[in-house]
Amino acid sequence: MKKILLIGTGGTIASEVTEDGLAPELTSEQLLAHIPTISDICTVACIQLLNLDSTNMEPGHWRRMARCIRDHYDDYDGFVLTHGTDTMAYTAAALSYLVQQSPKSVVLTGAQKPIGFDSTDSKINLADAFRVAASDFPGVSIVFNGKVILGTRAQKTHSKSFQAFSSINYPYLGVLRDGALLPYIRQDCAAAPVFYDDLDTKVALLKLTPGCGKETLDFLLSRNDALIIESFGVGGLPEAGGFFESIRAWMEKKKTVVLTTQVQNEGSDLTVYHVGHRLKDTGVLEAYDMTTEAVYAKLMWILAQTRDPAKIRRMFYTPVAKDILWPGEA
Ligand code: ASP
Repeated sequence: MKKILLIGTGGTIASEVTEDGLAPELTSEQLLAHIPTISDICTVACIQLLNLDSTNMEPGHWRRMARCIRDHYDDYDGFVLTHGTDTMAYTAAALSYLVQQSPKSVVLTGAQKPIGFDSTDSKINLADAFRVAASDFPGVSIVFNGKVILGTRAQKTHSKSFQAFSSINYPYLGVLRDGALLPYIRQDCAAAPVFYDDLDTKVALLKLTPGCGKETLDFLLSRNDALIIESFGVGGLPEAGGFFESIRAWMEKKKTVVLTTQVQNEGSDLTVYHVGHRLKDTGVLEAYDMTTEAVYAKLMWILAQTRDPAKIRRMFYTPVAKDILWPGEA
C-alpha cells in the first residue's frame, strides 16, 4: 500500500468557528480522522507544518513546504498539502519551481467549507487528493472539486462556490469520478526531483487602470528588481504620460519588467497593437499564456539565481512544468 505524507498548513478546511470568524485550528491528524476509509487506499503519516489562513502565507512559507517535501521525499510515495484556497494557486506555482520534475505526486487541496460543517467540500477534496497522491501521478497539482489542475496553471476564480479553481490556458490533468482518478495528462518527470531552496522576493505586481499615472510604476520599480504589469487585453501601455520613457530608463538600470494581461484567458500578444508593439524593443518580457501567479513565483525563483538580463530572459521563456506554451522568443 502507498505511503502518503499529509502536510497541514491551515485554511478553511482546517478551520473552526470562532467569535470573530473562521480560523484554522484543526491539526492534520484531526482532518484525517474525518475520512477514516482512506486507510483502504493508502497509509498516511501527518505533519503539522503551519496553521495559517493562507492570506498570511509568504514566500518563506513556500520554502518551508518545499524543504519539508525534500526532507521526507525518500520516505513516502506522495505528498498531500492541505492549504487555504485564497493563495493556494500562488503556493502551487511556487512549489512547481522549487520542486521540479518530481516523479512523485505533490498535491495541494483545501475547501470552501470547513471539514466539521454538515455541508462541506472538505472530505471529498481531501479523499480525492489522497487518491491522486497514491496513483503515481507525477508533479505538483491542485486537486479540487473533482479536477486535477497543473500547479502552474491554477487560479482561484470563484470566492464561494465549490468549483473554486480554474485551469488557465491548459486542460485538466485529470478528473475524479466516483472515487476513481481518470488521468488525462501525465506530467513529464525525471528519475529524481530537482529541488531549489531560494526565492528572491523583490518582485512586485501592478494592475493597470485607465488613467493611472506612471508614479506607481516608478515607485514599485524603485523598490523592487522585477515588476509584473497586468495591462489590458493582449497587452500594452498608455502612450501618453511617460510610461515608455520610464520603462526604457528602468531597463537601462537592469530591472526586469514583465507585461501580462488582466484578462483571464488566452494570454498576451504585444505585437498586435501599437500600444504594445512599441514595447518589444525595450527589452520587456511578456507572459504570453502564463498565469500571473506563475509569473510571480517564476521571477522569484529566477532572481534568486541570476541578475543577468540575458539569463533572466532565457530562464523566463524556458518552460517549467508546462507553465508557458507559447512558442515565444527564448
Ligand atoms: N481564507 C481561507 C484561506 O485561504 C479561505 C479558504 O481556505 O478557502 O486560508
